Amino acid sequence: MEAQCDSEGRVLLRGLTREQLTTWLVEELGEKPFRAKQIWSWLYVRMVSSFDEMTDVSKATRALLKERARIDSIEAHEKHVARDGTTKLTWRLDSGAIIESVLIPSAKRNTLCISSQVGCAMNCQFCYTARMGLAQNLNVAEIVDQVVQSRRLLGEDIQLTNIVFMGMGEPFHNPNSVIPATLIMMDRLGLDFSQRRVTVSTSGLVPEIERFGRETRARLAVSLNATTDEVRDWIMPINRRYPLGVLLETLEQYPYRKNERVTLEYVMLRGVNDTREDARRLVSITRRFPSKVNLIPFNPHDGTEFESTRRADIDRFAQILFSQGVSVTVRQTRGDDGMAACGQLGSPGERREPKRMPAPERFREALASWNVGEGS
Ligand code: SAH
Repeated sequence: MEAQCDSEGRVLLRGLTREQLTTWLVEELGEKPFRAKQIWSWLYVRMVSSFDEMTDVSKATRALLKERARIDSIEAHEKHVARDGTTKLTWRLDSGAIIESVLIPSAKRNTLCISSQVGCAMNCQFCYTARMGLAQNLNVAEIVDQVVQSRRLLGEDIQLTNIVFMGMGEPFHNPNSVIPATLIMMDRLGLDFSQRRVTVSTSGLVPEIERFGRETRARLAVSLNATTDEVRDWIMPINRRYPLGVLLETLEQYPYRKNERVTLEYVMLRGVNDTREDARRLVSITRRFPSKVNLIPFNPHDGTEFESTRRADIDRFAQILFSQGVSVTVRQTRGDDGMAACGQLGSPGERREPKRMPAPERFREALASWNVGEGS
C-alpha cells in the first residue's frame, strides 16, 4: 500500500481511509484490525493531536506510531472574524504555503468552505484566487485536516453541519486527493457527514465529474456562470476545453441518487451574463437534469474589470427563474470585510495582474465605460 508520507517519511494518518488505515496497521505494524477502529475514533471523534492522548492504545504501540506516523498535517495560523460572524481560518502547510478555510454560520447550518489547492490554474476572469496561479495541490490529509482542526478550534458552540469545496483551487484538478477526502469525511465511524452535506464545486472538468459520480456519493455543484459559449469561453477559459454542450450532456448522464440535484452556481456579472435572454436560457438548461440554481452576487476585488449585477436586477433575474418553476436561491454575500467572500481568497502579496482573456467585441465598450475596462 502506498501511503502518503511527510518529508521525514512519517505516514499522514488523516490521509488514509479507514480501510487503508486498517491495512497499514496490520501490515506495517503487525497490529490487530480492531486497533484501527480505536485509532480512527481518536483521529475523528476525539480529534486528538498527539499519540499520548490515545490512552487505550498500549505504550509500545504509541511509541511505534510516534516514530512512523503523524496526526496533524497543517498548523493553525490566523483567525479573522468578520462582523457578520463569517470566520476566516488560515493554515500553514509543511511547504510553508498558507491556505484558507471559511466558516459561514447561519441560523440553520454552519458551513465550512475548504480549499483543495494553493492557488488555481483555471484562470476564471472574475476570481481573485485565479491571480495566484497554481502553486501546489493539497494532499488528502491537508484537505481533511481543515475540517478536523476547524472543528477543534471552533469548539462545542459551533457544530459544523456542511462542508463545501468552494475555497481556493479547482477540486477536480486534484481529484486523487479530493475524492478520498470526501470518503473520509463521510465515514460513519468518524466525522460522519451525510452525503447530502458534503458538496464539491467544479468549474466543469468533464472526465472528473464522471469519475466523481462513480467513486463518491458526495454532492456536486457546477459553476455555470454563463449560458452561451461566447461568454463562458471568455470568463471561464476551461470552457474552451469542455464547452457547454459537452458539460450539460455530462450532467444529463450523471448518476443522480434519490432526491439528488446538481447545484448550478451562477455569479452575477453586470452586463455580461444577466440579461432576460440569459435567464430564459438558464431555465431551459435546468430542465435537462435535476438541478437547482444558486445566484451569487459578484464580489469585487482589486484590478477586476467586472461589476456585480445590482440587487434589484438580481431579484428580477431570480424571479424569471422562479416563475418558471426553477428552484433558485440568491447567495447572501458574507464576510467581505475580511476578504473571506467567494472569489476573494488568497493574500494580496501573491497577486499578479490577471491573465486577461479578450472580451468579445460587443462587451468591450460596456466594460470600458464602467471603469477599468481592457486597460491593462
Ligand atoms: N474551482 C471551483 C471552486 C472554487 S470557486 C469552482 O469553480 O466551482 C467557488 C465559487 O465562487 C464558484 O462558483 C465561482 O464561480 C465563485 N466565484 C469566484 N470568484 C467570485 C467572485 N469574485 N465573486 C463571487 N463569486 C465568485
